[in-house]
Amino acid sequence: MFRDMRRKKQQLSQEECLAILNAATSGVLSVIGDDGYPYGVPLSFVRIGSTLVFHSAADGHKIDAIKANPKASFTVVAQDKVVPSEYNTHFRSVIAFGRVRLVQDAEEKMALLRALGDHYWPNHDVELAAEIEPRFNHMHVLAFGVEHLTGKQSLALMEQPS
Ligand SMILES: Cc1cc2nc3c(=O)[nH]c(=O)nc-3n(C[C@H](O)[C@H](O)[C@H](O)COP(=O)(O)OP(=O)(O)OC[C@H]3O[C@@H](n4cnc5c(N)ncnc54)[C@H](O)[C@@H]3O)c2cc1C
Repeated sequence: MFRDMRRKKQQLSQEECLAILNAATSGVLSVIGDDGYPYGVPLSFVRIGSTLVFHSAADGHKIDAIKANPKASFTVVAQDKVVPSEYNTHFRSVIAFGRVRLVQDAEEKMALLRALGDHYWPNHDVELAAEIEPRFNHMHVLAFGVEHLTGKQSLALMEQPS
């Protein structure tokens, strides 16, 4: 049911999409929010295989939205270099579609949180444990299962090495 990209020439390979997700420090999670208004919220994340992992406060707009409808998309802009003389931007971005699960199992939740923390500050297990433990029961871990992943770059970037 997911759409094909119209400008196929500009489509990135799956490997290039994954590389963008691996290198990104944040992206925008889009959910169906209050009264059907789309709600795009910036979040830090880590990719583990075909899952994107987020952490969140236990309550709030995004949690209410996910509980009501787990379908979501996640957008990362990897590059956006404005070229004024071309009235253009040299861009590279990815969009993932999937469903978000609130992780309930304590063991899985801890493992995903450790992976998330380790992604941002590797090899600091003691500091990470001190960060997680007091918050563990008052937060959510979100697992976004990627069902469809596309990446696109501007025409100009196709001539340049990524
Ligand atoms: C680069 C980046 C990384 C972030 N990483 C994380 C993360 O890993 N985990 C995390 O929980 N949060 C992160 N945040 C904060 C996140 O964007 C939300 O503010 C936060 O998660 C609360 O979301 P909520 O829906 O519970 O907020 P609520 O307070 O319930 O939202 C109520 C309303 O406040 C407004 N609002 C909420 N957040 C923002 C925002 N960021 N900018 C403008 N308006 C806003 C919206 O109008 C929203 O409808 C990050 C923000 C940025 C910019």
